[in-house]
Amino acid sequence: MSKNTQAFPGASKTAEGMLYNGALFQPVIDKCEGCARVRDFEDARYCSSYPMPAAKWSIGNCNFSTHMKAAATAQAKVNPLKASKRAAKGGR
Ligand code: SF4
Repeated sequence: MSKNTQAFPGASKTAEGMLYNGALFQPVIDKCEGCARVRDFEDARYCSSYPMPAAKWSIGNCNFSTHMKAAATAQAKVNPLKASKRAAKGGR
């Protein structure tokens, strides 16, 4: 699996998690599903930006996530409240 090696070059698997660049990485959690920063390494998946995804999500939405930013942008483009006010006024 050469792709895995490229994602975390020099990484090694330990009993506590993946050791990479002197940091211990924990596997991603279900909330990371869809994020472009998820990478495979051996039999698990890790975040390429943050060693402890569960801790990151425990204080709110992960600010590194690519899938949450995409959702926020989509919401910003269409504000249903403003759209309904415009429609009620008969405006554009
Ligand atoms: S950037 Fe955040 S959401 Fe994406 S994989 Fe890492 S911890 Fe998970």
